[in-house]
Amino acid sequence: MNAFKLLFLGTSARNYSPKLNNECKDKFDKTARRSACALLNDNILIDCGFHTLNAMDIAGVKKSDIKTLFITHFHDDHFNLESVQSIANSKTQPLDIFVSDGAVVPTIENAVIHYLKKGEKMQFQNGITITSLLANHDKEVFPQHLLFEKDGEKFLYACDGAWFLTETFYALKDSNLALFVVDCTVGDRVGDYRICEHNSIPMLRLMLPSLKTFNIIDDKTKIFASHIAYSLHDTSEVTEKVLNDIGVALAYDGMIVKA
Ligand SMILES: [Zn+2]
Ligand SMILES: [Zn+2]
Repeated sequence: MNAFKLLFLGTSARNYSPKLNNECKDKFDKTARRSACALLNDNILIDCGFHTLNAMDIAGVKKSDIKTLFITHFHDDHFNLESVQSIANSKTQPLDIFVSDGAVVPTIENAVIHYLKKGEKMQFQNGITITSLLANHDKEVFPQHLLFEKDGEKFLYACDGAWFLTETFYALKDSNLALFVVDCTVGDRVGDYRICEHNSIPMLRLMLPSLKTFNIIDDKTKIFASHIAYSLHDTSEVTEKVLNDIGVALAYDGMIVKA
């Protein structure tokens, strides 16, 4: 029995393939990614951006299936008020929404907002615990990485954010993550200005061995690159191969992983 089942509903940064407006409007395609979002264990939604409702339709996920929503931060590719409200409206019970402590959240009907304190492990549902960790991203949008634990297995969702902040790095020491979703907004190029808010492939090349040294990841960790900017990467095939060489799988919309 796996602790985690993750369905990627979107794996793009806020830079989309034009195909989403026409031939890929109603289907998943590795070359036309939607705004980054994932469904954990069938009812926990992580982020809800521009394309989330459309992606849920394609995947056959009903709005009323969503029990809980975690918002990693308030950039509009991760939080779209209209879509969140639409999910909340579909429910008979109020939707539980978890955000970073201190976040300023607009009014959402039929929802209860829960604020996660940084570094404090919280008992959640069905034997899952959750820890919010500070992410190195625009602090105006209250960014957090999310560490889920169940049955001794750990899953870190780390979009968006570049590198790790020191306190987060130490909090993750000896985690031996089973599953790790990492920001890989920028492709295999150097000189991009986003180095302090998003990762590139050369940054992952540097970072992953150090994460291993600290036992944050190990040889068994399943690592997936997400938040892929369409115009900052090579083709999916090339990116997939380059990432495979460093032990990372390229996530795609509709992909299901278990750990
Ligand atoms: Zn983003
Ligand atoms: Zn962002």
